[in-house]
Amino acid sequence: MKCSQCIELFDDYIDGLLTRDTIEKIQAHLKECSHCRVIFRTYSLTIRLSRRGETFRTLSAERLRSLKETITSKLRMQNKDI
Ligand SMILES: [Zn+2]
Repeated sequence: MKCSQCIELFDDYIDGLLTRDTIEKIQAHLKECSHCRVIFRTYSLTIRLSRRGETFRTLSAERLRSLKETITSKLRMQNKDI
């Protein structure tokens, strides 16, 4: 699994919407990839925090999208292979 694919699946992974097969692929990737581990930690923390409050929740989809885009483009700059 490529980093970009892995990051794309974080939303569904956190929401528990993925098949066991996909979950295992993500977990295997996270085990090997320190980049994605850091991103996943940041991402899941942001989601948890954003889901605590109603006011924040209305902003969360947009915020998370921009967060993910920022992270993905940073990764692309660091490593053209992902
Ligand atoms: Zn990765």
